[in-house]
Amino acid sequence: MEPGPERVILCPHCGHKARVGTIRSYSMIGAIAWTDGKISSMAPDLPAITRCVACSEFYWISEAKVVGEFHEWGSYRVRSADPADSSVGQWLEGGPPAEWLSLEPVRHLAGEEYLLAIRKGLARTERDEKYLRISAWWSHNDQYRTVEANLEAKGSLSGQVRENLERLRELLDEDDYSDRLFKAEIERELGHFDEARRLLAFDFPEHVREVAVFIDQLAQRGDTLVRKIPKGNW
Ligand SMILES: [Zn+2]
Repeated sequence: MEPGPERVILCPHCGHKARVGTIRSYSMIGAIAWTDGKISSMAPDLPAITRCVACSEFYWISEAKVVGEFHEWGSYRVRSADPADSSVGQWLEGGPPAEWLSLEPVRHLAGEEYLLAIRKGLARTERDEKYLRISAWWSHNDQYRTVEANLEAKGSLSGQVRENLERLRELLDEDDYSDRLFKAEIERELGHFDEARRLLAFDFPEHVREVAVFIDQLAQRGDTLVRKIPKGNW
């Protein structure tokens, strides 16, 4: 993994500064793929949306103003203060301002926060809503990824988690193979095994065919847990 410079951004609501990492390149060696579509890898998992530590409002990181960039032990540059001038300043040596180094990094939202962000109007497009609902779902499933999870540990889904999956299901297009696979997995996790299997009986492209077969086997077993996709199947 090759990290890029750290960025200093401003909360669009209150102007509080935060830092966010960037990545130049990373490798997928050793990555783990899950049936819900999440891929765990060595690459730093940078959030797309966050919540300001000062004012508690949500914001998309891509929409926050960047005021500077820096390397922890090296050069830095300040973005122009003139909003009409988006040009980036020269890299300066001598280490970044101490204030920048002490900034808190932006954080990922927790499961319920993704849903709260939707209620607060952060999903301006269907694509945003899909992103937020998938993130809420993955975040809920995270508790079953770390340990050797079993079905008893899962119990029944809370109303909020179920509602999220039901709404996400409506946003997915059955004619799109990737959406269809997501949808089949949602039906399986909701315990609708026949519906999951109906969706999986489809001419998926080669590179996900084995994943569909694997999810189908889980549905046949009556398994509703998120599962690691065995190596060699993706
Ligand atoms: Zn703020």
